[in-house]
Amino acid sequence: MHVYHSPLDLVRERSPERPVALVRHGPVAAAARWFRTNFAGDVLYAVKANPSPWMIRALVENGVTAFDVASIPEIELVRDHAPGARMAFMHPVKSRAAIAEAYTDYGVRTFALDSHEELAKIITATNGAKDLNLIVRLAVDASGAAYSLSGKFGVSAIDAPELLLAARQATQDLMGVSFHVGSQCMRPSAYQAAMAQASRALVRAGVFADVVDVGGGFPSVYPGMVPPDLSEYIGAIERGFNDMMVHETTELWCEPGRAIAAEGASILTRVELRKGDALYLNDGAYGSLFDAAHAKWPFPVKHHRTDGAARGALKAFQFFGPTCDSIDHMPGPFWLPDDVAEGDYIEVGMLGAYGVAMATRFNGFGDIETVRVDDAPMGSMYGLAPRSIPTPRIDSGTVIKLTRARGKKRRRR
Ligand SMILES: *Cc1c(COP(=O)(O)O)cnc(C)c1O
Repeated sequence: MHVYHSPLDLVRERSPERPVALVRHGPVAAAARWFRTNFAGDVLYAVKANPSPWMIRALVENGVTAFDVASIPEIELVRDHAPGARMAFMHPVKSRAAIAEAYTDYGVRTFALDSHEELAKIITATNGAKDLNLIVRLAVDASGAAYSLSGKFGVSAIDAPELLLAARQATQDLMGVSFHVGSQCMRPSAYQAAMAQASRALVRAGVFADVVDVGGGFPSVYPGMVPPDLSEYIGAIERGFNDMMVHETTELWCEPGRAIAAEGASILTRVELRKGDALYLNDGAYGSLFDAAHAKWPFPVKHHRTDGAARGALKAFQFFGPTCDSIDHMPGPFWLPDDVAEGDYIEVGMLGAYGVAMATRFNGFGDIETVRVDDAPMGSMYGLAPRSIPTPRIDSGTVIKLTRARGKKRRRR
């Protein structure tokens, strides 16, 4: 992979025609090492956040050697780029063939479930295997998160005890509980509350868990969202774990996606046309900017021009992507210099998670090249850049309101 010191060096050297994923290994290494050092248990990277081969390899090089996978293609990807790595099949709904293949061909032993029906499928598809680690996914309150992940998966508090008992009886290996507090969780206490809920279900079931998997949800930095320091999350999880009814050998797991991957890439797009405050870019809602369009997620932007800096005060722009669909629109506002023009490049930051991962081929677009850069990300949870990305104020002093997809369900997660 070609390495440039900065995105501007790339723009100056060869004005790329296609959008470019600018990947940064430094922040991924820092994130992996941070979790390995500070999380008192096993760290499983949630592959869906960014399934790029470079990401998998960078994680392995920095000590993260376990992966949360949701499909056979994700399993094959991990097998190819992290041979021998441990994998946990954490999707609560799997096909029988996928379960059998994961167990027999790829050595997967850990499976998530949130229903008796799925438990029965896992047992049948593995021919009654006794060496399974069965993780029961619980539905928990997600009010502290920007995205809820409990609308679709997770057994309710009422039904959990019976399922926990059935899972306990179905395996001689590990039985555990998991949950997801919601993505970009801004309240560390949400983990502690979810663990208390898990503990109540275990007590009512009269079983001990061998694994407590606190899932993902650890935040990253976006304009207008300044998350608490990650150490506060570790503290809340530690308190939650201490308050749980667990035995001495109970393992703690986590499955971060966003917090590990977000700082690891930005997307370099080109302005193909400007109409007033609308910029028509060569990447968009069907490409790596899915969240900017569909979740109105506030991404930070930077302007790059081959022959010098842009001029003018910052102005609010909206973006349109390259496809012919009118929902290929990213309302922003994105703050850029007043004189942005066709041929300029716009770097959209903090897109290492749920960026490239979301791209489609619709309308013949979606082709993206990958280039490595060495500069700092636009924001950082690991001290590589500030933990806040300021939102501009307009002249009148009005603070710009960012529309956030709080609590809104989304299709693909
Ligand atoms: C998506 C997902 C994760 C990662 O979530 P983040 O919010 O990106 O940390 C972890 N576990 C499961 C089961 C998931 O579906």
